[in-house]
Amino acid sequence: MRRNKSFTATKQSNPKKFLNKLDKVILARMNNGMTASTDPKKILQNVFGYDSFRHNQQEIVEHVLAGKDAVVLMPTGGGKSLCYQVPALCLPGVTIVVSPLIALMKDQVDALLVNGIKAAFLNSSQSTGEQAFIFQQLKANQLKLLYLAPERLMGNESQFIQFLKQIQVSLIAVDEAHCISQWGHDFRPEYLILGKLKENFANIPVIALTATADALTQKDIIDKLAFTSYRVFENSFNRANIFYYVKPKRNYYEDLINYLENHKNDSGIIYCLSRSATEKLAEDLKQDGFNAEAYHAGLEKSLRDDRQEKFLKDDIKIIVATIAFGMGINKSNVRFVVHVDLPKNIEGYYQETGRAGRDGLHSEAILFYGAGDVIKLKRFAEVEGNEAQTKIMLQKLDKMSRFCEIKTCRRKYLLNYFGDDAPDYCGSCDVCLNKPVLTDSTITAQKILSTVARVKESFGMRYIADVLRGSNSERMREEHKSLSVYGIGKDVVKEEWLHYTKELINYEYLQQTDGQYPVLRLTEKGKAVLFKKEKVYLSAPVNIEIAKEPVVFQQHPYEKELFDNLKQLRNKFAREENVPSYIIFSDSTLLDLATYLPLSEKDLFKISGFGTFKAEKYGKSFLELTQDYCNEHKLQTRIHLKEAKGGRKQTTAERSDRRPSDTKQVSYQMYKEGKTIAEIAEERNLSANTIETHLSYYISTGELDINELVEADKYVAVKKAAEIFGTESLRILKENLPEKISYGDIRMVLAANNMVK
Ligand code: ADP
Ligand code: ZN
Repeated sequence: MRRNKSFTATKQSNPKKFLNKLDKVILARMNNGMTASTDPKKILQNVFGYDSFRHNQQEIVEHVLAGKDAVVLMPTGGGKSLCYQVPALCLPGVTIVVSPLIALMKDQVDALLVNGIKAAFLNSSQSTGEQAFIFQQLKANQLKLLYLAPERLMGNESQFIQFLKQIQVSLIAVDEAHCISQWGHDFRPEYLILGKLKENFANIPVIALTATADALTQKDIIDKLAFTSYRVFENSFNRANIFYYVKPKRNYYEDLINYLENHKNDSGIIYCLSRSATEKLAEDLKQDGFNAEAYHAGLEKSLRDDRQEKFLKDDIKIIVATIAFGMGINKSNVRFVVHVDLPKNIEGYYQETGRAGRDGLHSEAILFYGAGDVIKLKRFAEVEGNEAQTKIMLQKLDKMSRFCEIKTCRRKYLLNYFGDDAPDYCGSCDVCLNKPVLTDSTITAQKILSTVARVKESFGMRYIADVLRGSNSERMREEHKSLSVYGIGKDVVKEEWLHYTKELINYEYLQQTDGQYPVLRLTEKGKAVLFKKEKVYLSAPVNIEIAKEPVVFQQHPYEKELFDNLKQLRNKFAREENVPSYIIFSDSTLLDLATYLPLSEKDLFKISGFGTFKAEKYGKSFLELTQDYCNEHKLQTRIHLKEAKGGRKQTTAERSDRRPSDTKQVSYQMYKEGKTIAEIAEERNLSANTIETHLSYYISTGELDINELVEADKYVAVKKAAEIFGTESLRILKENLPEKISYGDIRMVLAANNMVK
């Protein structure tokens, strides 16, 4: 790291002066309402450092703040925590969070403390002294959030309830609320005591949150918690940044190794069904040079804690675990989740895979499927003495194995399972990615078609392939050996010639006669290829492998070296404070820094993840590192590109600065004023297509953010198609992409990647 590099005069070379300035900014922001604010949006921005609420977080927060009960259904990684953490900071008293696992509590509390929020947890691992201190803080109303296990809250310790009644409790959050339902997949009897919550705290709003609730479980949560007046908030279950793959389980180890080789720097979880399997696999992986350890409930607690801790801190890259691992894992940079055994149900699968990519960056879920697993799992599905529940478990297992066998979009199947609608094509699961795509096959087609013509349309497809391959079989007629096409396709295997011939039949370039010895004839369309040089597009037997290079949804290039340096700096802080690195900053925050290069304290606040507290604590160090890097590499800040995000409204004064001089600029400015493409088209009496073309220009210059205009799944699909078909013809791309992707989408994605001709 270049710590001792001198600054140029324009940069903040004096740390003291810098701090003063930073203090001022912080103060200004605080006066803007940070400390005394009860405005959720301000708290989100100032304390957590995020631009805006996701999904329906805002609605949920407002509902809870109005004192009403809520059931929140959101996928893992969707952002449930903020739904009660933001209200907790708006409300005057303490928010009690019921949570099933100690590991989860500690992690959440660490994350809150790092943001400067007063939070604590109570559990049996603490000394009496520690507990007494927490009680004291509660009495003095000094805590905003208190995490505890259900039995602690409602157990026989009626004293504790009495205590809580004396202090100011503003809100109760029940995390992992499906644990209360016997119909769910993770029933925990201790959650049942929460049935008494409403009896004891009639006037305190309760928010129940879960990632996995089918209709039955959902109803059960409401019944068991004795909610009478409440609202259910359902969210789209889609996790767009997770790619789903199912691969055959036979000889999976080699496949797995290949995959891990290509992801050497990434963190991931590999799930196995049994404890012994985790140990064996971890051992094998270690033998093969990977940084992997096993984790299961049978290991000594201290060892388990140690491994979990190391994983969180990136000292262990791969955890090979039973499902005992993960409930409490909020690690945001898990890049892949592999299942080497079939999960018992979709809920579990979705929850486990949901642990990947909480930071919103590209992540992968890979499942190795073998039908043998289904048989094995059927035995586990037996719930002794409970026929009804056994039946439910078996049905759930059946839906799980179907997921692996379908030939349609896997994301759609998952989303439908949770009651969400979804398009037929997502562009980011193995089924969609392996969907046959058409490539320019004109030369291949010409070879086949002219062979058909030269053998006078009297032979079948195997014979045609033999001619092309120059076969010497007895069947081969002597006169055909002197044809110009004889042997011109030696280098291509017979199967491939057959594949293309079938394709030509499918697309009606050739016609196959009926009868015992079908022969091939040219159609009019086929003749046009031979005589008018029409082009032919056919599906190649493509097999797109799991992406080797992760696709990062980052519209602008980032400074890789700086990114690595920033990571090191973050890890240094994490070590010093003894917390996992992602608790200091997520990878996506660092990626933003390395992309937009903020060089002043003001710009720093535009980076997602920098709340007031973190900016104060770490801002200077991260800024200095970025400044050094930019000085050395003669780079300017790119923070103005960041501003384009969110369609910031311009003032009239700003607008008149830059009189639109051409038609595309008019469209651009209207867009920046917050109008949609359709509205601009209508107002300007131009087609939407034209407007999209105008905007494409500003995407290519970096002034507009592709993410605002094209959804991630479409983006990936277009990029993939462009790689296969090239960018010669938009029409060809359009024809090979799902219906929902417009010419405009294609144009904009090409612009974003500087692929426009
Ligand atoms: P869940 O509990 O639903 O699994 P989390 O609450 O842990 O998910 O949130 C997942 C990640 O998304 C966390 O890193 C969190 O800080 C981040 N996050 C949540 N809401 C927002 C938001 N509105 N803007 C930016 N990041 C968010
Ligand atoms: Zn799909």
